[in-house]
Amino acid sequence: MTECLLKLCAHRAVEGMQCKAPALRQSDYCRHHARVHRPTAILPAYVFAGETASDIRLALLHTIDDLASGQLSPKLGGQILFELDKRIRALKSNSASDSASALGAQHP
Ligand SMILES: [Zn+2]
Repeated sequence: MTECLLKLCAHRAVEGMQCKAPALRQSDYCRHHARVHRPTAILPAYVFAGETASDIRLALLHTIDDLASGQLSPKLGGQILFELDKRIRALKSNSASDSASALGAQHP
């Protein structure tokens, strides 16, 4: 019996199927999935503080402060600002649809 020296990628799809591609030499994953499983930068806790408008506003201020003081890299700061902007837009669209449904309830 021959021993298989080829290490396969450890990634499993949602359905549980293991990726059949060979793993990179220094990794448990193939070239494609090594990027997917790459450890992400540690985000500041204020990014996850809450989902209300005031929570997001506070996170924006912290992000701008940390960017200005050099505690955040411009790339990571940009990513955080982009994420916070998405949350603000989601809040706005939710409150707009709530207002529309409230108006619909008042004026059927
Ligand atoms: Zn893979």
